[in-house]
Amino acid sequence: MKPVIAIVGRPNVGKSTLFNRLTRSRDALVADFAGLTRDRHYGNGRMGEREFICIDTGGFEPVAKTGILAEMAKQTKQAVVEADVVIFLVDARLGMAPQDRVIADFLRKTGRPVILAVNKAEGMAYTTVTADFYELGLGEPIAISSAHGDGVRAMIDEALDALGIPDEPEEDDKTDKPMRIAVVGRPNVGKSTFINTLIGEERVIAFDMPGTTRDAIDVPFTRNGKPYVMIDTAGLRKRGKVFEAIEKFSVVKTLQAIADANVVILMLDAQQDISEQDAHIAGFIVDAGRALVLAVNKWDGMDDYEKERARTDIARKLRFLDFANVHPISAIKGFGIKELFKDVDAAYAAAMSKLPTPKLTRILEEAVEFQQPKRVGMSRPKMRYAHQGGSNPPIVVIHGNALSGVTDSYRRYLEGRFREAFKLRGTPLRLEFKTGQ
Ligand code: GDP
Ligand code: GDP
Repeated sequence: MKPVIAIVGRPNVGKSTLFNRLTRSRDALVADFAGLTRDRHYGNGRMGEREFICIDTGGFEPVAKTGILAEMAKQTKQAVVEADVVIFLVDARLGMAPQDRVIADFLRKTGRPVILAVNKAEGMAYTTVTADFYELGLGEPIAISSAHGDGVRAMIDEALDALGIPDEPEEDDKTDKPMRIAVVGRPNVGKSTFINTLIGEERVIAFDMPGTTRDAIDVPFTRNGKPYVMIDTAGLRKRGKVFEAIEKFSVVKTLQAIADANVVILMLDAQQDISEQDAHIAGFIVDAGRALVLAVNKWDGMDDYEKERARTDIARKLRFLDFANVHPISAIKGFGIKELFKDVDAAYAAAMSKLPTPKLTRILEEAVEFQQPKRVGMSRPKMRYAHQGGSNPPIVVIHGNALSGVTDSYRRYLEGRFREAFKLRGTPLRLEFKTGQ
């Protein structure tokens, strides 16, 4: 499971600047959709090879008792509970503020490992920057600049080292393990009902006890003689003989499950409009590169007009998921699930596709012949050959010259050609450009 890092501090110390630096979206596709990435407080973070989930807690004014500030403080506390390690940000320019002490006291009580980072330290002497903050009793402060990047890497290393997370990510050979499936969606769309219908209690082989947020709750099951693993997201706990949702919706658990899955089933409620929360979750799935199948639940009892309206709403608001198939289902009545599950297998196969270099290169050549990339200044991007750089999601690495000039629209054009040629339905596809090799 990816570790969870929460960034905490009073307003204006630079939390969102740091968050944006750590979570720079790696997928242009998601960034293209304005509104989706704005105002995001959860993100997939990366520093070098190290990956984590990052929470920006917004402003924390611990003195407020009511109103929006108190609400933010509540959210901060919630985020800290869900985090494995906390980065406590203070401001080098303003020095120690009274709120910093209150926050430090709160953090100490949570028992979470805390990394004290003094932000806006660019161009300042280390001792000047940090002198004030030893008295917080949170150990050696680290001087950083969120805006310029100084010290950020060392800070993340320290945070992850505090958790004993190894520097090198484990090699996981996804091919000979059972496919891992996560069912995600906002509260009440029917995730637990669906999982109950799908798995049925008798097929459950083993069950781990719930622990901290870092413990995965995996439910192995078989279907048509094939082994699968369902990753818990809904807070599904075994109580007596049935699964029951006893926890509130958790963005962190959702993100971890997405990161941990091969295929994600995004569940939507046909009887409700697509909401911003649906779109956010969808954005995370694309961002993580996971194979995806859409399940539109509660299709029972809908008339033709409502069905049409639901389809249109999804097509319009979740346009960026057009690589995935949409399945109307009823988790309660049990219909649509067989087809949905076939598609889960198909999406997985697409995500694990082998893309041989000769065919990739041929398709690249044909695509360029059909439509050349635009000239940028004096030069035109020149594409020489392509090879596969990974799977789940499939990555196509394109080699050539002046490739930084490839536009987003040309990238999408190429993506479409590769998708069509390799029948890549149900999985995001990443293109990477390498100049001069
Ligand atoms: P938040 O309220 O804690 O999320 O703070 P913001 O990220 O919105 O930053 C508050 C202000 O501090 C903005 O004007 C930022 O440009 C500025 N800021 C953030 N990080 C740095 C930094 O590393 N150095 C300097 N000089 N300014 C910074
Ligand atoms: P979760 O929060 O996503 O796990 O949602 P639940 O499985 O707890 O379901 C939320 C509510 O939706 C419950 O009242 C279910 O009975 C109802 N529900 C779930 N699936 C269906 C369905 O296929 N059709 C209808 N009409 N209601 C459903």
